[in-house]
Amino acid sequence: MDFQLGDEHRLIRDTARRIAREKVLPRVFEIDQSMEYPEDIFRTFKEAGLLGTALPDKYGGAGAGVLGLCLAVEEVAKYCQSSALILLLTKLPTSAIQLAGSEEQKQRFLGGVATGQLRGAFGLTEPAAGSDVAGIRTVARKRNGDYVLNGTKVWISGASVADFCTIGAKTDASARTKGFSVFIVERGTPGFRVGKHEKKMGVRGVPNCELIMEDCVVPARNLVGPENSGFHVLMRTLNTVRPVVAARGLGASQGVLQYAVDYAKQREAFGQPIAQLQALQFKMADRAIEIEASRLLTYQAAQMVDDGKIGPEHAHMLSIAKAFATETAVRTAHDALQILGSYGYSAESLTELIYRDVRQLMIVEGTSEIHRTIIARAMLNDVLNYR
Ligand SMILES: Cc1cc2nc3c(=O)[nH]c(=O)nc-3n(C[C@H](O)[C@H](O)[C@H](O)COP(=O)(O)OP(=O)(O)OC[C@H]3O[C@@H](n4cnc5c(N)ncnc54)[C@H](O)[C@@H]3O)c2cc1C
Repeated sequence: MDFQLGDEHRLIRDTARRIAREKVLPRVFEIDQSMEYPEDIFRTFKEAGLLGTALPDKYGGAGAGVLGLCLAVEEVAKYCQSSALILLLTKLPTSAIQLAGSEEQKQRFLGGVATGQLRGAFGLTEPAAGSDVAGIRTVARKRNGDYVLNGTKVWISGASVADFCTIGAKTDASARTKGFSVFIVERGTPGFRVGKHEKKMGVRGVPNCELIMEDCVVPARNLVGPENSGFHVLMRTLNTVRPVVAARGLGASQGVLQYAVDYAKQREAFGQPIAQLQALQFKMADRAIEIEASRLLTYQAAQMVDDGKIGPEHAHMLSIAKAFATETAVRTAHDALQILGSYGYSAESLTELIYRDVRQLMIVEGTSEIHRTIIARAMLNDVLNYR
């Protein structure tokens, strides 16, 4: 696959790189410590037109696809996972709408997100169902042509700042995957409220909250796609966004490794810069090898999504990219912190922040274990073979 980026993709990457250095980097510690959603960063993205990067031009986006979004996310994730997540959240809640929504839904919600008028969240996980998506218990019962939703979602990124949430619910509680539907639930809908805010290890600029639905009446026009077709739509949504999570890992790995290399060149021990120590050089080199592999896997996965390859027959390649790039980020943050020694452990260093921030990447959008089951299944079914 050829990754010579075109002019539009290069422009997106360069714009995001400039914003990351000039606007995001100076704010990273404040964002982490205040634990407040960075409205200024959202506004900066909005003014630069980055919120619509992956959304179709027909609805006010840039039409630069998931590859475009990955390039922007990669740059921002070099320093700040919260800010990178703000960009990812332009795609996660809108993907199902783009894949299966009505024209009216696309105009309203894709258009709203692309222009920064609306913010979305994506609600799938529940107290008793994370990896086991088909085990969710939120139910949607038809009443007078509309739907009445009852259930609780947990860990929903950006829930308290979202204008709408794309929610998975059971329209047939007795069925597992065949009784699933997707709804757009808007802020202010009676019976819909934000519950507990999670206290967490990293990515503290984007809140993670419970969303509670109690006899919440959602109009039929907010059903996304046909009733009971939601599982298929949600699996494709997750596949679509996996390269973007990989890009968060790819960016973080580069940011934290560069930080460690720059430090190692000026820190001296035993009469020489520690960068001269082969023990540390091997850590740098091992992680650089993995970063370059992550880059190829991530861009390839993004291109696959943009080519419409998001079905089960392609899922293993998206899983390989997501698992590898995110696990590389965790290893790289670990080694970078070690290279800095005690300063790396200080809350004033970027290594400490990134070390905490990247750990969640191995959990969200399918845990590392779930991705291994997807990859192994492809091998056992002969979808992935090396004959
Ligand atoms: C920071 C953060 C942000 C999040 N944002 C969102 C969001 O915006 N929207 C949303 O819906 N959810 C969100 N989540 C939830 C996330 O998607 C889930 O945490 C994830 O799917 C895993 O589910 P779980 O935590 O319930 O773990 P479980 O599914 O209970 O898994 C626990 C452990 O068992 C392992 N395991 C489970 N099943 C298998 C299996 N079949 N094979 C092997 N191992 C298995 C897992 O890998 C894991 O190690 C977020 C979570 C975090 C931490």
